[in-house]
Amino acid sequence: MDECNILNTLKKNNIVLENRFVRPIIISGPCSAESREQMINTAMELSQMGIGVFRAGIWKPRSRPGSYTGSGSIGLKWLKEVKQKTGMLTAVEVAKPSHVYEAISNDVDILWIGARTTVNPFVIQELAETLKGSEVHVLIKNPINPDLELWIGAVERFLKAGIRNIGVIHRGFSLYKRKKYRNEPLWQIPLDFKSRFPEIPIFCDPSHICGNPNLMLEIAQKSLDLNFDGLMIESHINPPKALSDAKQQITPAELENLLLKLKLRNQDTQFSNSLSTLRKMIDKKDKELMKILNERMKIVEEIGKLKKENNILILQNDRWEKILSNMMTLGRNKGMNNEFVESVFKLIHQESIYVQSLLMNEEECSKIEIN
Ligand code: PEP
Ligand code: MN
Repeated sequence: MDECNILNTLKKNNIVLENRFVRPIIISGPCSAESREQMINTAMELSQMGIGVFRAGIWKPRSRPGSYTGSGSIGLKWLKEVKQKTGMLTAVEVAKPSHVYEAISNDVDILWIGARTTVNPFVIQELAETLKGSEVHVLIKNPINPDLELWIGAVERFLKAGIRNIGVIHRGFSLYKRKKYRNEPLWQIPLDFKSRFPEIPIFCDPSHICGNPNLMLEIAQKSLDLNFDGLMIESHINPPKALSDAKQQITPAELENLLLKLKLRNQDTQFSNSLSTLRKMIDKKDKELMKILNERMKIVEEIGKLKKENNILILQNDRWEKILSNMMTLGRNKGMNNEFVESVFKLIHQESIYVQSLLMNEEECSKIEIN
């Protein structure tokens, strides 16, 4: 795959903001296209700040009927005008082949696939076939549910159709009960994606992860620290009056403020010497940890044999609770995170029970989860 093709194309169009923002690439614009005035005014401000890519939802897949579904095709004319007036690249969400035809014939540069579309392999296949051999850039949002394989499957369908200019967007995952975030970031999923497809650029969408502006800086910073390639952030000329996602949109001025607060860390290693010394120390500790875990497991097996000979229950709850509370006290005294210590020991205990169950039953048995 042509390495970072999308990045190179976007970079050329990404004007430098106070000499800092060649990378990450910033994509911004309203959740939905509402009016010509809203689109042009938002884009003019973003462009003056140096944002190179303008987004707008023309056709919005809404969870519930009756919500604003975007301007429809007329928004493509407004987008074209944005492009002519500002020179920005334009991006829209597509969910059906007719969206793809219309967007491409209106010179849209980037098509993104929304989270509610990525979940459906039939629709993705149809979109990929519609785009076969096209040079257009496609950004694929993660599916709403935390399913890495489904996300990867969507990417593979586009790759198989010969679409080379692919990127992905991490927009968080929907859970039944909303907690701190509108969509849980579950960072391990985009990180696993990155290690499976290191050459595919990955963007973060703090707007849909957070659902409000307060947490966005924290999420944007974290994504940059994890070496994401860019950000997609919703902006609106007058957020309280927005017809969709009003709570999470920010003004272009607020966006500029946020971008200026972001810290860009060096990718190359000025500190490579001390870094490699520290990494060697970590490798040594990891080996010691493995040795100790292995020794501990051997003792667990000995205990298992004894329990079997004496026909004693595997789970001795008092003993387990004592171990856990002792370790948590020890951890606390050493300034370690309680949840971390708890999870580590729960995992160890779970594995110990599994090993003893195998021994006592002398047959395959599934792992018992202790919560
Ligand atoms: C959007 O980008 O406006 C949108 C609808 O996002 P998502 O598909 O991530 O919900
Ligand atoms: Mn939105």
